[in-house]
Amino acid sequence: MDEFSFIKSIEQSAYSQASLVQGIGDDAAVFRQQAADIVTAKDMFVENVHFARHTMDPYHIGYKALASNLSDLAAMAAEPAFYLVGISIPPHWSMEEIDTIYKGMKDLAANYKMDLIGGDTVSGKELVISITVIGYVPTGKARYRSHASDGDIVFATGTLGDSQAGLHMLTNAGEYIDSDYFIKRHQLPSPRVLFALALQDISRLCLNDISDGIASEAHEIAEASNVTIYLNDEDLPVHSSFKQFEAALQDKWKLFGGEDYEIVGTVPKENWAQVQDAAAQLNLRVTNIGYVATNSRLGQVFLKKKNGKIEQLEKKGYNHLSR
Ligand code: ADP
Ligand code: MG
Repeated sequence: MDEFSFIKSIEQSAYSQASLVQGIGDDAAVFRQQAADIVTAKDMFVENVHFARHTMDPYHIGYKALASNLSDLAAMAAEPAFYLVGISIPPHWSMEEIDTIYKGMKDLAANYKMDLIGGDTVSGKELVISITVIGYVPTGKARYRSHASDGDIVFATGTLGDSQAGLHMLTNAGEYIDSDYFIKRHQLPSPRVLFALALQDISRLCLNDISDGIASEAHEIAEASNVTIYLNDEDLPVHSSFKQFEAALQDKWKLFGGEDYEIVGTVPKENWAQVQDAAAQLNLRVTNIGYVATNSRLGQVFLKKKNGKIEQLEKKGYNHLSR
């Protein structure tokens, strides 16, 4: 198959987005949007850095690459509309496998009526996938990390550490409880797009997605908002079967483990019930995990332990340029 028949093969037969004027097939795509702010994000995935074939099937690779991008749109409370895919294809990957990668993306995109409107195809030494997503928010309604304020409740969706637990199960043979659940959380994560959209009526809300671990994401909020964040260790949400792992692993994964693609946010106390209602409607767990303060420790994050001790949390998590 050559580049042109490949592009033909991934092209959608019909588009869902009314704002699309020209999709795949010309030098660039065109869409027309008058009444909204446009939100865009890009995440890149490199074989053996972000994923490996022995833990991720081609379908998972495509699905998760788009999920990670959608998680960024969720963190801005944007409604997904379009995606573009740059792909570098090495000779040792078959066209059938590449097609399956696209199938993973398409299935997730279909949940949000997203259209694939472009990209670029090159051959290379490693499989690299670079996705750009485009979404819409009502004018002025994007949610920023800088919007946390003194007295806010800090909350997190879902459960933390699942993805790293799943990866551990995939890479360490053994007997595990609920391995299907944890492995699915690693391979096919669920970006919290609908949850973020359901919070549109709240006037002030701060959101961040948990791609690098709650410790890192909470720091990003604390720094951007110039506040102090206190998290209650006992309240950090974990799956009921998470306790099968030794305590040190549980701590590491729930605080610093990446790729859960949950949402951490802060909200004024008077709006907390709305957050709980929105999550309940979606059958999604949401947990009050701490609070925002302003004191002399601005930009820092503290963990209150069960025994009453308070530890400062390090801003660590997965960081590509830390050497
Ligand atoms: P040009 O040479 O003008 O850059 P291309 O041949 O690269 O055009 O692309 C032709 C069309 O196919 C464009 O609409 C482009 O966005 C789309 N396209 C190319 N590669 C991909 C890809 N991997 N995924 C999705 N769309 C693609
Ligand atoms: Mg091109």
